[in-house]
Amino acid sequence: MKSSVANREHDDSEILKLIHELEVHQIELEMQNDELVIAKDRAEKAACDYTELYNFAPSGYFTLTRDGEILELNLTGSKMLGKERSLLINSMFVHYVSETSKPIFRLFLKNILEGNVKETCEIELAWGETGPAHLLLAAVVAGSGEQCLLSATDIANRKQAEMQLLQQKDEIEAQANEYVKLNEVLRKANADLEVAVERAKESDRLKSAFLANMSHEVRTPLNAIVGFANLIAQREIDPESLRKIAGIIDFNSKVLVKLIDEIIDLSKIEAGIIEINIEPVDVDLLLSNLLSIYELKKKELGRDNIVLRYYCSPEADVVMADSTRLVQILHNLTSNALKYTTSGYVEFGCSRIDEGMLKFYVEDTGIGISAKDAARVFTRFYKAKNEFTIFRGMGLGLSISKQLVEKMGGKIWMESVVDKGSTFYFTIPAKPHEITSQNLPDEKFHSDLKGKNVLVAEDDEGNFILSKMQLEIAGAKVIRAVNGKNAVDICAENNTIDFVLMDIKMPVMGGLEATRIIRKFRGEILIVAFSAFALGEMEQAAIQAGCNLCVSKPLDMKLLDSIVASHFNK
Ligand code: ADP
Repeated sequence: MKSSVANREHDDSEILKLIHELEVHQIELEMQNDELVIAKDRAEKAACDYTELYNFAPSGYFTLTRDGEILELNLTGSKMLGKERSLLINSMFVHYVSETSKPIFRLFLKNILEGNVKETCEIELAWGETGPAHLLLAAVVAGSGEQCLLSATDIANRKQAEMQLLQQKDEIEAQANEYVKLNEVLRKANADLEVAVERAKESDRLKSAFLANMSHEVRTPLNAIVGFANLIAQREIDPESLRKIAGIIDFNSKVLVKLIDEIIDLSKIEAGIIEINIEPVDVDLLLSNLLSIYELKKKELGRDNIVLRYYCSPEADVVMADSTRLVQILHNLTSNALKYTTSGYVEFGCSRIDEGMLKFYVEDTGIGISAKDAARVFTRFYKAKNEFTIFRGMGLGLSISKQLVEKMGGKIWMESVVDKGSTFYFTIPAKPHEITSQNLPDEKFHSDLKGKNVLVAEDDEGNFILSKMQLEIAGAKVIRAVNGKNAVDICAENNTIDFVLMDIKMPVMGGLEATRIIRKFRGEILIVAFSAFALGEMEQAAIQAGCNLCVSKPLDMKLLDSIVASHFNK
């Protein structure tokens, strides 16, 4: 019994102990429960915070499958793509990317999945009118390679800034281009100004050279004329010396007349009043006439050792051109060639370069022209510096020739080697004439001049050459008188002369006085006054002196022909 009581007491204390342990355990559990509740609350709050952070983060977050299907995204992401989150889930991300950015996005996704590295790229969204148009994407592989975590940052502002920068850059570039252009214009203006200053200086230098030269060129022949005139007045001079003095005075007068002719020509050219008269010209006849004239001139200059020759290609034939100007140019070039050549030859000629163009040349074996001078000889008043500078001349012949050639629509140029010789070339438009050289004088236009004996009273060599050529081309035979007195004598001796072309201003005896005398013994003869002066008063004076008519220089062959026709056919 005693032991059963003892056992019961033992059991009770065990139970109490157990109860106590349970109570402690319960307290511990309750405490653990409290901690769990707190931890749960904390976890819930953290989840809530995370969701909030996830949803409202400034970047869009997307979880994509390997194919690019959207599995999950935050609120910012759905706003970026412009659709409800529920509508975006399970759709393809690429669907919202613009056409141009689609290849970029696909490559970006491929690189991430294959390379297993973080990649970035910029894309443009397919919708962009109201939302962000440009995104910067960064992504990594997740979920053992099955997924891709993608963050998207709105770079609209940056893009806009970039655009603005680009625009500014374009504007700056355009401005820089403007400056470059302006600089170019200024540079050109500066260069033009420098050229103009150089020209002005050159023109000033040429003007001074011209005045100095002009004074020399005028004084030299004038001194000779005045000096010999005084000598004749003061002393008894034998007839032989008188003849020589008359020759010197005659030569110097011609030099003066040539000078004045050149200056008048130059001023006419500069005033733009030179006219080009196109008429049929027999080129071969013109060149052969030039040869005969220069054979004489060669003797006058004492250049007997120079061979003079001409060549005319058969294709040149009869052409439509201005014979007066053609002769003037050839005359300038040939007289220069003769002037600057002391031995060898002077050759001039013509060939046809095509249907409408003739090319003339004048070649010599003279002193030549240095390259420095060659660039300037066509400039007016320019005379090359050489031992021949002492030769008379104003430096105008080549410049006048150049302007005449250009006025006719051609070109003039030269080739030269110092001490070997020079060749001057020029081209002129000259269409072939339908008639040939054989039947040219029989044409209606020249018929009344054919076979007529014409006395040309002309002191100036150049003018005489010109008139002679024109008359001979028309079929007339030409005799020359070098002054009025000479004309009177020839008319008195030679009664086969059909008409006289009378220059008005001539040395020894003028044309009007000569006409008055000729009229006394040849009442019926046709006398046409021929004047370089303006008609008008001169015309009246000529008719009063007994001339039938008065025409102006250069000779208008059509007019002369009609005068001859009406005189001889009445
Ligand atoms: P000028 O009346 O002084 O001869 P041009 O204009 O005809 O004037 O010629 C200009 C310059 O060109 C001449 O002063 C001369 O120095 C040079 N010149 C012209 N033709 C020849 C030539 N055939 N040979 C050498 N020099 C020439």
